[in-house]
Amino acid sequence: MNKEELKSYVKELGIELTEEMLQKLNDYADFLLEYNTHTNLTAIKTKEEVYLKHFYDSLTLTKIANLKEGTLLDVGTGAGFPGLVLAIVFPNLEVTLLDSNNKKITFLNECIAKLQIKNAHTVYSRAEDYTKIHRESFDFVTSRAVANLRILLELNIPALKVNGHFLVMKGNLEEELEKSINTMQVLSCKIIQQEEFNLPKNGGARTLLNIKKTKETDQKYPRTYDKIKKKELK
Ligand code: SAM
Repeated sequence: MNKEELKSYVKELGIELTEEMLQKLNDYADFLLEYNTHTNLTAIKTKEEVYLKHFYDSLTLTKIANLKEGTLLDVGTGAGFPGLVLAIVFPNLEVTLLDSNNKKITFLNECIAKLQIKNAHTVYSRAEDYTKIHRESFDFVTSRAVANLRILLELNIPALKVNGHFLVMKGNLEEELEKSINTMQVLSCKIIQQEEFNLPKNGGARTLLNIKKTKETDQKYPRTYDKIKKKELK
């Protein structure tokens, strides 16, 4: 997908990319690919793929949420997906980019400074340590390609405000969803929207879920990562 194609595909999502946004995305792609030659950030090696599998894919979250304003936490953001793309396209969205890999945080800090992005900042932390403390704080939490849904629910839901939304990005979700029913009950959240579609240009199947938190989360969650992994909430 090239720049012009991105512009027209996201128009179908209701997004009008300005020249300034397109320039920032272009500089982001160049910096990512150049940095990736010496530091492993992404398996994607071409600009066309960055535009499709990182930029367009990140922006499909607008199918399930209005991200024009509010606060968003991207847990396990890696090289900034989807969080940094959303920050570029939605300047009134306050974005927190969290990752436990210091190389990725260093890249993001350089990228944010280079592109002069004012509405994004980074946090170097394990998710479970951060969301244990920063509770009931965000309108939106998201994570792409970080862990299975059951684990992500316990890591992410504590950080959401009541009535906030956990925006789930997955390929095929059926099995993970079944294994997450009990956890969703214990953490008082419910699915309010599900979207299934294919990325353009045979980019693969995608499922998005909008999960709404309905009650404050008990202080005992999240548990330690070991416990989250070993034992399902019931
Ligand atoms: N979200 C990005 C994307 O879709 O391109 C990165 C995905 S990468 C496969 C997974 C990222 O999650 C890694 O950068 C890793 O360091 C981070 N991660 C995994 N578990 C984490 C945890 N418990 N706390 C913080 N970051 C975590």
